[in-house]
Amino acid sequence: MVTSQRSIVVGGGVAGIAAAWRLAKAGHRVTLVESRHALGGRARSFPDPVEKGRLVDSCQHVVMGCCSSLLALLRQMGLSGLLRPHPVIHFLSHGGRRSRFEASRLPPPGHLAWALAGLHHLGVADKAGIAASIASLAVRGTGTAPTFGEWLARRGQGARVVRDFWDLVIVSALNQPSDGACPRLARKVFIDGFLAARDSHELRLPIIPLEDLFHRHMGERLAGAGVRILTATDCKTLLPGRGRVTGIALRDGARLEAETVVLAVPWERLPALLAGLPEGAVRCRGERLRRAGIAAVHLWFDRRVLPTAHAALVGATAQWLFRHPVADAGDGYLQAVVSGIDETNHDAESLANAVIGDIGRFCPASRRARLIKSKVVRENLATFRVPPGVENDRPRPGIVFPGLAIAGDWTGTGWPATMEGACRSGIEAANALLAPQGC
Ligand SMILES: Cc1cc2nc3c(=O)[nH]c(=O)nc-3n(C[C@H](O)[C@H](O)[C@H](O)COP(=O)(O)OP(=O)(O)OC[C@H]3O[C@@H](n4cnc5c(N)ncnc54)[C@H](O)[C@@H]3O)c2cc1C
Repeated sequence: MVTSQRSIVVGGGVAGIAAAWRLAKAGHRVTLVESRHALGGRARSFPDPVEKGRLVDSCQHVVMGCCSSLLALLRQMGLSGLLRPHPVIHFLSHGGRRSRFEASRLPPPGHLAWALAGLHHLGVADKAGIAASIASLAVRGTGTAPTFGEWLARRGQGARVVRDFWDLVIVSALNQPSDGACPRLARKVFIDGFLAARDSHELRLPIIPLEDLFHRHMGERLAGAGVRILTATDCKTLLPGRGRVTGIALRDGARLEAETVVLAVPWERLPALLAGLPEGAVRCRGERLRRAGIAAVHLWFDRRVLPTAHAALVGATAQWLFRHPVADAGDGYLQAVVSGIDETNHDAESLANAVIGDIGRFCPASRRARLIKSKVVRENLATFRVPPGVENDRPRPGIVFPGLAIAGDWTGTGWPATMEGACRSGIEAANALLAPQGC
């Protein structure tokens, strides 16, 4: 009798979900082990303290049109409809002045030229300099510049243009300003995110909270594909035998056997999990990577204060505002996302005050609104930092020991810390185990 292979995926974030799906679709009997009560990892939600019975995302997660692997995963699961495309990005500044940033009929890479020309907060010379710099970035790359900030300086991009254009994009995407950022990753953001295709810059926002998307809907699809999902289950260590991995030991003492294991956990968790293997058997662990935080300021007003579902803020403490994904016309919930929070001196109170002050200046409707409640959620372990050379510190997703593969947004996919990078890593790790020589 032919029995299909048993695989265990440890970690139910996006990387683990993608790996479990790929292995199950290839016929493996998969068990997905997640220590939290829900799938989704860092893409998570909490109960709304004001609107009882609904969830609020710890921090808004944005998918862009260029996130092809994650979008493909959603398509395969029949869940594409749970992300709504937003072809227009709204740039908002002081006094409620707004620009619509959307593709014209011109073919890529020129499709956003009119959108750039229409940005109200930049002068004509600023826009010409930005356009010439983006063209140079595409054609010549960043040359010998040690950081993206240095490359911008060599291009003559001044502090105001860096703050109001380049860093609005870079801090949102890389979670740190351009002056210390890896030039290669920064280039990728602009090329893949803006030039590659007509819809690559478009936002795709979930129409339901993240926990519903990743835990409820993706969990259902995984279960439908035969994946056994164990939440609130902590993997303690790997079990070795005959020179390969033979399963895992759980924190409660139980042992699960398998021919292959994917560890889709943050790099900080690896040393404990790998302790069961012979010493030195696995070397590439990402130990030189460092963390960067993101904060979300959650605000409950007594009425709607932002006329659009989202807005990119020019010259504010937060880079983005988002309404609740499930919001009726009177819903006053608003979330401000502050990436690059480690670069500021804010504590929770001063951050909330700064954001509330900005909203007063940027959203005129808020002046008639009453703030019911505010809450700051700061995720100190949100992403990995991207200094120059960071790519050398990221091991490739895939096999690191017989029967064992690693995945996670931190592995060397070439993407910054995103759900797209996590998804790619999970699929790559699974594919490596599925290859004839993989297991
Ligand atoms: C505040 C914030 C905002 C973000 N915004 C965006 C955004 O707008 N767009 C975007 O694309 N990305 C965004 N990201 C990044 C995105 O969340 C991550 O890149 C992605 O979710 C990482 O997925 P992952 O599976 O690699 O890791 P994780 O999500 O960290 O998943 C790892 C999982 O492993 C589990 N685990 C760990 N140890 C064990 C163990 N011993 N046993 C069992 N389970 C274990 C953990 O509980 C966790 O669920 C944001 C992140 C944060 C924190």
